[in-house]
Amino acid sequence: MTIETFQVPNNKLPHIFMEKTDSRKLIEEDEKVSNIIVSNLLLNKELNGLIYSIREITNNINKLITTKPEELPFSLLRSLRLKSSELYRFRYAKVLGIKKTSEKNKINLPEISKKINLSVVNLIKNYSNRIQNDLKNYEKKFNITLDILSSETWRICGNCSRILFKDKLKPMNCECGKKIENVEDTETLPISRFNEKMLTFVDQNMWFEHGIEQILKFKKLDTRCGYHILGHSGIKHETDVFSYSKKDNITAISECKTSDVGLNEVFVVHGKMFDIGVHKGYMFSLKTVPDFIKTFAKRKGIQIIDIVLEKNPKTLLREISVW
Ligand SMILES: [Zn+2]
Repeated sequence: MTIETFQVPNNKLPHIFMEKTDSRKLIEEDEKVSNIIVSNLLLNKELNGLIYSIREITNNINKLITTKPEELPFSLLRSLRLKSSELYRFRYAKVLGIKKTSEKNKINLPEISKKINLSVVNLIKNYSNRIQNDLKNYEKKFNITLDILSSETWRICGNCSRILFKDKLKPMNCECGKKIENVEDTETLPISRFNEKMLTFVDQNMWFEHGIEQILKFKKLDTRCGYHILGHSGIKHETDVFSYSKKDNITAISECKTSDVGLNEVFVVHGKMFDIGVHKGYMFSLKTVPDFIKTFAKRKGIQIIDIVLEKNPKTLLREISVW
């Protein structure tokens, strides 16, 4: 935890104490995350769609890598285009450890294991390719380079295609019985996906907060994103963006909402403003906010700017009033 202070110039009020958690700092300092922050494209609707699609596919890849084939959900196994009768028998044989099956239900376990492993590997390859192609197309369209994917090489068993380990060779026995001693005993599986920090950046809506910070910077405001700010009550308030206008000597906090904004949310922001002692509040929403809530918020010193992703930066800049 790093404590920082913000001294409002020309102001005899005490410093504003703010701190950022170490985990948040680690995420922001991640190479891929900082690449996407400096792109200045976080509020671009198309990039947003792409980010969520890559996150979805990355989650699928992660599930496939970390789950034993016999424990994969049936919905996923079915998408591997295997015969369902084989799948059921494979699963029961593996999970329940049934070795002796009746003649009628006999299955060739090593054979089907191989088939499933190979299908999983192919599915991961497809996902990984799709992520790279989608990003490439976006880069081409907007004529930019976005280094936001993490690449790594996994090793799979040369005999049964089971996913074994990442990067460095670890001597081991594969489940199929093959001894893994040399690199030659394996094959490679290159994977491109979001790393864990990028996933958190997306899942916890940090992309939205940093996108708003960029807009406020364009507005020539001094900004701090992702801090806890100490209120007069002694409570630390989580704030998405703190900003200060030197020109107008106005401090403000911004709240970024991906869900609906109602009267309760307005009260919470107003409470934070009052306790921290800032002049103004902003609420940015991805959704449409009814006019009566906007009017109510205005009376509390809060400006609500809705459907943020539907507006281009110019419109947003015009809409945000520093006063
Ligand atoms: Zn094997």
